[in-house]
Amino acid sequence: MKVKGICKICKQEKMLNYEHFPPRSAFNKETRFFSIPQNDYFDNFLEYIDGKKPKAKLKQGGLGDYCLCENCNNFLGLKYVNDYVNFAKIGYTIINESENFKAIEFNIKREEVNLKNFLKQITSIFICNNGSWFTETYPELLEFVVNENYVELPDKYRFYMYLNNEGQIKNGNWTFDNVNGGVCEFTFPPFGFVLNIENENQILEVSEITDFKYFDKVQNLDFNIILNIYPTYSPIPLDFRSREDFNNE
Ligand SMILES: [Zn+2]
Repeated sequence: MKVKGICKICKQEKMLNYEHFPPRSAFNKETRFFSIPQNDYFDNFLEYIDGKKPKAKLKQGGLGDYCLCENCNNFLGLKYVNDYVNFAKIGYTIINESENFKAIEFNIKREEVNLKNFLKQITSIFICNNGSWFTETYPELLEFVVNENYVELPDKYRFYMYLNNEGQIKNGNWTFDNVNGGVCEFTFPPFGFVLNIENENQILEVSEITDFKYFDKVQNLDFNIILNIYPTYSPIPLDFRSREDFNNE
């Protein structure tokens, strides 16, 4: 099925494809999910943690939305998607083969994942999960996706990631708070990603991956990466309290 609308990448009115976030091949083919209005989840998330069933209809066939035309969809597929999928497979392997860890250190070989392309795919996820105002306000993010060779993304955009296999999916919508400024958080196992805009301080709970954009300029044959693993029961960005934390409050 296709729906007429404005493509979030080329900004033209076209027939839009159903876009999978993350890509279908990154374990998002059969995802069954409830779409709960954000306000409802904020008001009632303690009950949801306790097992309350959402009123919303169960959706199947993978998480996503109508946001890109076929050309832009194909462009992402050709340029960036494979690197996301390859890293997601590594992330799943790490989680499945390691027990009870809070943080883990591992190695990625240069030929396994192009980390610049991985970061561009993440950026496209944030673009697709926000309104068109988002790229009008932050046009460099759109340029970063559209132009595969553009890496001089201004320093005000900082990216972070963590591992995740427990809690709620987070949709990447932009939020603002007095401590961190503009924050978009997208979580879908095995990863969570944070885009932080115009914050001079580094967010310390999560691993910064902003420098992935310079992947082509460094000669490393492999990359050492340390990631924390966090549950995402709270609807508040960067709030990683566990189910037990909530039950004990
Ligand atoms: Zn398009």
